[in-house]
Amino acid sequence: MTITLTSLLLRFTGRSSSSSLRIRTYMASTDASPQPTPERTEELREALTDIRQRVAAAASSPSHTPTLVAVSKYKPASDILACYKHSQLDFGENYLQELVDKASLLPREIRWHFIGTLQSNKAKALASIPNLYCVQTLASTKAASALNKAIPAERTSPLHVLLQVNTSQEDNKSGLPPLSPNIDVASSELSQLASYILKECPKLRLEGLMTIGSLEQSLSASETEKNADFERLRETREVLKEYLVKEHASAFWGHEVTGELVLSMGMSSDFEAALRAESDIVRVGAGVFGLRPEKVL
Ligand SMILES: *Cc1c(COP(=O)(O)O)cnc(C)c1O
Repeated sequence: MTITLTSLLLRFTGRSSSSSLRIRTYMASTDASPQPTPERTEELREALTDIRQRVAAAASSPSHTPTLVAVSKYKPASDILACYKHSQLDFGENYLQELVDKASLLPREIRWHFIGTLQSNKAKALASIPNLYCVQTLASTKAASALNKAIPAERTSPLHVLLQVNTSQEDNKSGLPPLSPNIDVASSELSQLASYILKECPKLRLEGLMTIGSLEQSLSASETEKNADFERLRETREVLKEYLVKEHASAFWGHEVTGELVLSMGMSSDFEAALRAESDIVRVGAGVFGLRPEKVL
């Protein structure tokens, strides 16, 4: 039995308010079995319920059900299992080895989303995860080709991919430049990558676009003010869609049901703004699992 600092803190301070981020401490589990404690299971149930309610309230229309991806990087497999027991199926991970390890311990019904930097030479390890559902960070033909080739023959469904767009154009962010109506779309990197996937990568399903956006936009955009990065991703989708309709009319792309290019944008600090800007997929880490330790480089 483990007593985490968190449970001690909770005992002394009581619960934090449901809408604010809870500060929890990450305890690496040395236990091979991923069973969560009853306390942690209850804590995660409450956090998930809260985030799900906020997602539903901020969704752009009642008929639109956004996907909540719980970003579980640095968090133990037991935390993921606790959320899974509360019907959470979509989880996001940034680091390949961490994802490989967790996927091997956890139920096959989980839909894994890879949201980290994709290195072409690691495509094989990534693609061999049988329940890898989506790679959200595709940004080069080299990586697309490596991924397509690495998908095992026994995989029956295509691997969903999203193209990462650097909407804030910051040097420290990955992704391809966004599109706007007054550029030569056909010569853009984004349209070329999309075309390459549709023509050369039959095992990939081009589903949409993903962005992170700048912290500054995330903090300054208020209830009424729009987040410029999210608006840029929307505009990029419209321009790319027009191009695909014209150039790849007979190809399959977009959401399997609606046929629309989906948008993955919004994290703990800005997912409500992202949903108001018609995001389809939000990626929430700290809001579900509590804060992570700073990454030490
Ligand atoms: C870590 C991460 C998230 C989740 O961030 P939070 O602020 O914890 O919600 C979402 N998307 C990407 C790409 C990430 O790396």
